[in-house]
Amino acid sequence: MSADCLFCKIAAKKIPSKIVYEDDEVFAFEDIGPQAPTHILICPRKHLGSLNEASSEDQAVLGKLQLVAAQLARKLNLLAGYRTVLNNGSGAGQSVFHLHLHLLGGRTFRWPPG
Ligand code: 5GP
Ligand code: ZN
Repeated sequence: MSADCLFCKIAAKKIPSKIVYEDDEVFAFEDIGPQAPTHILICPRKHLGSLNEASSEDQAVLGKLQLVAAQLARKLNLLAGYRTVLNNGSGAGQSVFHLHLHLLGGRTFRWPPG
């Protein structure tokens, strides 16, 4: 846990959120500013600022983020089309520096993304 990190505080339930999935490695909660009818953030419990800080020891949990996204997509009936997004660095729109995978669904998505 990183003391100043918003998402570490959400994981520790020091800041309230709508948690939709959690286990000993991963937690997922509804985004406060949804960009689609379904917008969930899926995070490792381990504090990693971004993908740039990840190493081979994080390989399994990085894969697990995607598998939890697919599991939630099934549960929430998003299989017609959903998107997982990992913004890496401020130039890519990252605003919270605890690595997180966005799961977006419930609308049509354009390509390329903005
Ligand atoms: P990023 O821009 O870093 O890829 O995504 C950060 C996401 O965190 C944004 O979509 C933003 O709406 C969400 N967010 C920021 N602060 C909070 C918060 O306090 N609670 C929740 N649930 N989501 C937050
Ligand atoms: Zn953190």
